[in-house]
Parts: sequence; structure tokens; C-alpha cells
Amino acid sequence: MRTLREIKKIYENKEANVKEVVESYLEKIKEWEPYINAFLHIPYEDIEKQIKELESKSPNLPLYGIPIAIKDNILTKNIKTTCASKILENFIPPYDATVVKRLKENGAIIIGKTNLDEFAMGSSCENSAFGPTKNPWDIERVPGGSSGGSAACVSAGEAPISLGSDTGGSIRLPASFTGVIGLKPTYGLVSRFGLVAFASSLDQIGPFGRTVEDIAITLQIIAGHDPMDSTSSPYEIPNYLEGLGKSVKNWRVGIPKELWYKGVSEEVLKTLENSFGVFKEMGVTIEEISLPSLEYALPVYYIISTSEASSNLARYDGVKYGYRDFTAEDLISMYKQTRGKGFGSEVKRRIILGTYALSAGYYDAYYLKATKVRRLIRIEFEEAFKKVDIIASPTSPVLPFKLGERISDPLQMYLTDIMTIPVNLAGIPAISMPAGFYNNLPVGIQFMSSFFTEDKLLQFAYAYQQFVDFSKKYPTLPNKERV
Ligand code: GLN
Repeated sequence: MRTLREIKKIYENKEANVKEVVESYLEKIKEWEPYINAFLHIPYEDIEKQIKELESKSPNLPLYGIPIAIKDNILTKNIKTTCASKILENFIPPYDATVVKRLKENGAIIIGKTNLDEFAMGSSCENSAFGPTKNPWDIERVPGGSSGGSAACVSAGEAPISLGSDTGGSIRLPASFTGVIGLKPTYGLVSRFGLVAFASSLDQIGPFGRTVEDIAITLQIIAGHDPMDSTSSPYEIPNYLEGLGKSVKNWRVGIPKELWYKGVSEEVLKTLENSFGVFKEMGVTIEEISLPSLEYALPVYYIISTSEASSNLARYDGVKYGYRDFTAEDLISMYKQTRGKGFGSEVKRRIILGTYALSAGYYDAYYLKATKVRRLIRIEFEEAFKKVDIIASPTSPVLPFKLGERISDPLQMYLTDIMTIPVNLAGIPAISMPAGFYNNLPVGIQFMSSFFTEDKLLQFAYAYQQFVDFSKKYPTLPNKERV
């Protein structure tokens, strides 16, 4: 249960070796997993191999001997990658995603694959085919989704850092619900090669951690151009650690009236009230701004993301890889039965919606129109960032809710992402920081900044964490009786 800097110190002072540090996390996993189910698999044999391979590497590598958990929609060579779907239940990728490759090259140890909503579709982690992850702060509540496992494992201290993916909020929402930090980088900053595609124009990989410094260290490794991803940006990557600790005095913070108050629960607003006092202490100025087209963000997102999903998920047909239904008598029924049995109901709902939105006669009315409104949303953010440096909002309109509470009402579930979705549509970066607790349940605040200004965003978040720091606050292990 340490920061990366603290783990580094342990190695420098020779207080423990990599095996011992990794084992201390595996111990935590053993303690917590019966309660929270954050992991889908722990590759014990592969971990041994990774530790062995590290022996020949330099201890000065930035992530030397750092255990990291990876969302199970990011490919890991020789380690099962299921997307929490039955259709990929036994899929073992033949190669590593670029982010995984970079982490390993920099000394990290992949300690496990984390649970998610099937194919990253959901906001609660309940859509996993392998059972939900639970919130370590209250195991009757959801950890948020879709990267619920990656968030919960950092929250419980099972891993110091992890990776998730964020298409409409899947890093920031669970970060908020579990009291940790989660960053969604600018679209194109981090390679998507080896991330199982959900909605390709929105998907981004990003880190979870407990301190802004840990987030910056991890981002530094995973960001940067990748020739294997044609949407990856060719820009040079700044040093994300340089700005940490520098003053943000007189920075302008925009408060969009569309994202505060309306539709936000009393509990969340009450908990975030003190943020304005914190902003004052940070020496920044607060300006109310307006982003009127955000009203359309949710419908636009659910047209674009389902359309892209319907196309991306066409590849799971029982022929190339993954599950195949062998009881079928001919090819067409093999397709039907494989997809019918392999996908869960939320995934099917998205495929049906997306196929409809893209079908002849409806394409112009739905998909094309949605892409135009998306453009307007992006322009509105661009205009806003001419006036302010940072935009702040709650990360979620509600507290972590109970398991089962929203699962039967997709619209209620979709509304959980109302604060995070506009960011993906625009393509800008955003971070969720733990801002306070309400009845021992975490509440997050979201900071957004302009395209490719993660350096500024992290500088701001770091300054904020000097005043509001929950990096050492951990949930306590539930009593055995409560299970
Ligand atoms: N909850 C949103 C959805 O279900 C976002 C998911 C995500 O970011 N992967 O689509």
C-alpha cells in the first residue's frame, strides 16, 4: 500500500526485493478478493517469469519492480484477455498491447487482469459475465464502471497503479466511486493498439493511482506515438513531472453551469461545496461558464458509440477466434447461436441500437447528425478554453449506488455518465480526483483541460492534492460475517 516513490525507496535501501514486494500485493489480493472480485485472473506463473526477466534489467528503470493491474480488455501476451465476456472466455492473445509492452520494458510487473463491464459497456461493473466487482468502501455498492476492477484494486491496496480504458467515463467514474485518481488522456495520446475496440473514435487508455505523481509517472511511459495505431498523435511528449509542485496562482477555473447543480444529487453537491474554498486557497480565479450543447451529449454518445460498437463487434462470429457454438447445423445458425449465447444482454442491446442507427435510411438522421452535434460540443470546449485554463465539474451526479439498483433501467445507468461523456466526445483530457467523503462513500471532482495539455492538467491536480489528499485513506477489510 505504497506510492511508486515509496516502492522505489524500498528497492534503493534494499529493504525488500521485487519478489517480496510483489508477494505483499498478492497477499492483499488474497485478503480482499473474496469480498470485491476486482480481478478476473492472476497469472501466477507469468509473474514468476516476469520477476526472473527483471533480474537482468537495470533497477533505474522508471517502473522497476512496480506491480500493475491491467483491465481485461487490454491484450497481454500469454495471459488470458476476456473483456469479461463469454465470447472471449478462453482467448489468449499472441501479443502485448503497446501500453503493456512499454510498461514491461520499463520494469513493471503485470500482476493481474481486472474485471469490467462486458466489452467496457456499462457504468457499474455489473455487466461482467464473471460476476460484478464490489466497492471496497461498501461491498453492497458498485465500484462504478466499466473499469471497476482497475479502480477497486487500487482503492483496496491490491495494486499501487492500474490501467483502464475510458470511452465515456469508464476510468473517471470508477475512480470517483472508489476514492482514487483516474486520468483519461487526450484522444490520440496513448496508443490503442491492443485495446479491444468498443467505440474507436472515443476509446482511450489511462492510469489509476493514488497520487498525481504516480499518475504522471505512468502516463510518461504509456503516452507517445505508436506506428501501430493510425490515430496516435505524432506530437512530442512533454515531461509530465516537471510542472508538479509549480504554482497555479491566477489560473482561471471554469465552472460550467450545465454540469453543476442541475441533476446533481444533494449528497454530491454538499461534499463538493468545500472545493470552492480549496480553489481560493490555491489562488485560482473562478468563472462561471456555459456549454449549452452539452444537453445533447448523452444521446449523441449513445448513437456514435453504439454505431461504432456494432461494427467493431462484428468480428466475434465464431470463426476467427473466441467462442463457437458447435451445436449449430449450418453456417448462419452457427453465427446466430455463437453471438446469441456469447454476448450478454447489454452488449446485444448496443449492437442492435448501433446497427439500427447505421442502417440505410436512418444513417443521415441519426449517425450523421450525431457526428455534427459532436463537432459543436468540441467547438464549445475549444472556445471555453480560450477563456479558462481548467474546467471543473462533479465526476458523477450520484454517490456509488447499490448493486442491482440501476441494472434493470438502462437509461438510469446511462445517466451516471452525464458529466464524463462530453469529454470523450470532444477528445480532451480529464482527471477525477477524490474530493471528499459522504457517509464514508467517496466523491470525486473532475478537472478538464485543452487538447494535449496533460502537463497543465497534472500540475493543477497536483496543486489540488496538496490541499485535498486522500492518498493514505484506505477502506477497511469487511468482516467475514458480512459476505
Ligand atoms: N458507461 C459508458 C457506457 O456504458 C461508458 C463506458 C466506457 O467508458 N467504456 O458506454
